[in-house]
Amino acid sequence: MDFNDTPEEAAFRKEVRAWLEQNTEPKNPDEATDESSDSVTEDDVKVAKAWQKKKADAGWACMRWPKEFGGRGATSIQQVIWNQEEGKRKTPSDIFGITHGMCGPTVMTHGTDEQRKQWIPGMLTGENVWCQLFSEPAAGSDLAGLRMTAVRDGDDWVVNGQKIWTTGAQIADWGILVVRSDPNVPKHKGLTYFVINMHAPGVEVRPIHQINGGRAFNEVFFTDVRIPDAHRLDDVGNGWRVALTTLMNERASIGGGGGGAAMKDLIELAKRIEIDGRRAIDDSAVKERLADFMVRARGLRYTGLRSLTALSHGKTPGPEASMGKLVGAVLGQDMAEFGVELQGMAGGAYDPTSSEDGGAWQARFLGFPGLRIAGGTDEVLRNIIAERVLGLPPEIRVDKTVPFKDIPTGA
Ligand SMILES: Cc1cc2nc3c(=O)[nH]c(=O)nc-3n(C[C@H](O)[C@H](O)[C@H](O)COP(=O)(O)OP(=O)(O)OC[C@H]3O[C@@H](n4cnc5c(N)ncnc54)[C@H](O)[C@@H]3O)c2cc1C
Repeated sequence: MDFNDTPEEAAFRKEVRAWLEQNTEPKNPDEATDESSDSVTEDDVKVAKAWQKKKADAGWACMRWPKEFGGRGATSIQQVIWNQEEGKRKTPSDIFGITHGMCGPTVMTHGTDEQRKQWIPGMLTGENVWCQLFSEPAAGSDLAGLRMTAVRDGDDWVVNGQKIWTTGAQIADWGILVVRSDPNVPKHKGLTYFVINMHAPGVEVRPIHQINGGRAFNEVFFTDVRIPDAHRLDDVGNGWRVALTTLMNERASIGGGGGGAAMKDLIELAKRIEIDGRRAIDDSAVKERLADFMVRARGLRYTGLRSLTALSHGKTPGPEASMGKLVGAVLGQDMAEFGVELQGMAGGAYDPTSSEDGGAWQARFLGFPGLRIAGGTDEVLRNIIAERVLGLPPEIRVDKTVPFKDIPTGA
């Protein structure tokens, strides 16, 4: 493992820092990090779009994208350096995670030249926000079991059905959509992938009110929505192949991190809180818990650095990369629970004006369970690690070769 920048990386970091120093304010190091804030106002959207445009004009947007699509053709390690440095500055909420992390790479990989020209520039400059319309009430982990339909009608397709848990649909201009175009073939084969205009007639977005007070995701209903065939990505029936491109990019963009950033905040909290007239941090049981979190957070950090070293040496990170989300989300949730517990009776109240750290612990406590589900649940990630990393026998999948319409539904 090598923690130091190479001379080229150090020069690049210097360039990044210089631009960020000119265009942003530093973050207050004493401010608690809020990893689960997830309500954006119209003003937040405007500010985030303006920041994206500014980065695009200066050549810092979507750095890893090829130059032909407006990116910089940067290496993965350069992107990491940018993220590290941008993370130290005050910047608007990131509303483009799905747009740039998943939708852009999918359109680049599977779109025609015309489709790329139509959609990629608006993503890069922040003109358009995109969302991912995959999950349905009865299709999440088993995504290929989705039921929303698409029927061809002249030059259009007519789609009907419902999606759910669609992050950012309430602010999105465009969406990536997988639907069932043929129920007569096995489930993975009858899917087709489209780009849909979220402002089209028949699209209805209903926000879901989350336990943490946020409204970041939605139910989306489609009634006789017409999509031009020109907005289909790849061939009819090839939707699963396209969806896999999106999902692979999703796991890479969710990545690790988890509660690591909150370790410093938790130690500070334990110094401020008093138990029986003395600082919580002086209590041996508290110290033991903090030490346990520290060991896990460090393990996660060094595993992440190992992946970075591989990237820096031009290699593809190994299986350690797939563990980041699984371990990080569980650690984040455990630390949030302890942050709430340390506050005693007051921990039960979630009030940004009077709770410790502006309610960040309660927000994390309510937000982390969602991170353990989004982008693959803990159980599904464990299955992936078991099958693809450890080479254990695969799960039995009895419905893989049966025509979709013949799979019993219990209805
Ligand atoms: C914060 C958040 C944001 C999201 N954003 C989006 C979005 O933008 N777009 C979108 O399309 N979706 C989104 N989702 C949905 C997400 O992808 C699904 O919730 C997830 O894939 C799980 O599907 P499910 O909710 O249907 O649960 P299910 O698949 O029904 O799972 C229920 C339980 O069964 C377990 N389980 C399922 N299959 C197996 C198995 N084979 N082996 C062992 N255990 C299993 C699961 O681990 C889970 O505990 C989001 C979810 C969250 C929480």
